[in-house]
Amino acid sequence: MSYCVNCGVELEKGEKRCPLCATEVINPRQPYDPNAKRPYPKQMDSPLVSLRGRRIAALVITLLFFFSGGICIFINAVYAGGITWAYYPAGALCMLWVFLFPPLMLQAKRAFSFLLCALLDALAAGGFLWMCEALTQGGWFLPFALPVTGMVLGFLILNASLILLRAVKGAYIGVSVTLTAGVLLIGLESVIDRYLAGAVTLSWSLYALVPCLVLAGFFLFVGRYRRVKEELRRRLHL
Ligand SMILES: [Zn+2]
Repeated sequence: MSYCVNCGVELEKGEKRCPLCATEVINPRQPYDPNAKRPYPKQMDSPLVSLRGRRIAALVITLLFFFSGGICIFINAVYAGGITWAYYPAGALCMLWVFLFPPLMLQAKRAFSFLLCALLDALAAGGFLWMCEALTQGGWFLPFALPVTGMVLGFLILNASLILLRAVKGAYIGVSVTLTAGVLLIGLESVIDRYLAGAVTLSWSLYALVPCLVLAGFFLFVGRYRRVKEELRRRLHL
C-alpha cells in the first residue's frame, strides 16, 4: 500500500498521481498501471450542478422582479389614473436585477466578468439616479451623483484589475486598496463641498487619509519584511 508523500492520502495500486493533491507517485514496487481500477470519478460534477442552480436562481429573480414591478405599475395606474410613484420601485427593481442577473449568468474569465459586471452596475445605478433626479427635478445628478458613482466605480475597477491581473499580490493588495481609498475620500469630499458650499475646503477626508497612510505603510512593511526574511533565509541557508 502506498501513501502520498505530500498529503499522506492512501493510494490505490498503480497510481501515477495523487488523486487529492496531484503529486507524482514514485513507488518502484507498484509502477503506474493505466488499466488499474480507480474507485473515484475522474471529474467532479459539482461545477455543473452549481451552474444549473445559478441559472435557475437567475430565472426566479427575473420572474419575481418582473411581476413585482408589474404589480406596482398596475396598482399605481388603477388607483391614481396614471403612473406617479411606481417609477421608483420599478426603477429600483430594474437596478437590482442588473446587479444580480449578470453575475449569475456570466461564465467568462473572472477578470473580464468582474469588469463587465462593475460597468453594468455603474450604468444601472447611474440610470436609476438620473431617473430620480428627472422625476424630482433636483439638479443633483450631474454635479453630485454622477461624479460620486464614477469615483466609486473607478476605485473598484482599479483595485480589481490590479488584483485580478496579479499586478499586486499578498500584502501589497492592502497597500493599493488603502492608498486608493484615501484618494477616493479626498475626491468624495471635494464633490460634496463643491455641491453644498460651492467651494472645496478639505477637512474630514484629510483626517481619514492619515489612518489610510498608516495602514498602507503597515502593509508595505509586511510585504517587504516577508521578502527580506525570505532573502535572508535563502542566502544564509537557514
Ligand atoms: Zn497527495
